[in-house]
Amino acid sequence: MRILLVEDDELIGTTLRADLERAGFAVDWARDGVEGEYLGREEPCDAVVLDLGLPGRSGLEVLRHWRAEDNRVPVLILTARDGWQEKVDGFKAGADDYLGKPFHVQELVARLIALIRRASGGNVGSLEAAGLKLDEDTQTVRLGDGRELQLTGTEFRLLRYFMLHPGKVLSKSRLTEHVYDNDSDKDSNVIEVYVRRLRQKLGEDLIQTRRGQGYVFGGEAS
Ligand code: CA
Repeated sequence: MRILLVEDDELIGTTLRADLERAGFAVDWARDGVEGEYLGREEPCDAVVLDLGLPGRSGLEVLRHWRAEDNRVPVLILTARDGWQEKVDGFKAGADDYLGKPFHVQELVARLIALIRRASGGNVGSLEAAGLKLDEDTQTVRLGDGRELQLTGTEFRLLRYFMLHPGKVLSKSRLTEHVYDNDSDKDSNVIEVYVRRLRQKLGEDLIQTRRGQGYVFGGEAS
């Protein structure tokens, strides 16, 4: 899953990006409000972490512009610790959640995952689909027969995206966009390699190929 991070503080941004990547997200980082607004409009991200005090354009303005364009991407705003007024303004502007600085990154990750699941219509809790259970903390998957398998970072990101969209036709380019960040070398052929690996690990029938369309995870396309 792909996160847009809009944060002008170099130290916080560097740390957050590394933490989010470790948690299995692909991260695009914008350092000012203008770039952040642009990326949020043009890039298909699954959630946004938005600082409010930004050079160029404030986080609240950025958020208002997105919502005015009917961009519904889940947005978590970063506020000052006791900034109740910021929270109120943020929710009025269309924020989905907030976190006061300083915060624990585990809480940020948990909130982002909950936001993304809610937005994709899934359950909040552990991620289960097609008889598999995905553990976000250890990046392992439990199979129907109880076996637990370790996944690499890319396998984890790809499987999580599949499990959030069971029964849907997902094109290779869509998968690539949500599994890799902006800076990575995007090659949709790589998706084929990782789909093959997931099939080898989890069973050949789990991910079906739709010629010319993409892949369907866990059963028939609806
Ligand atoms: Ca700031």
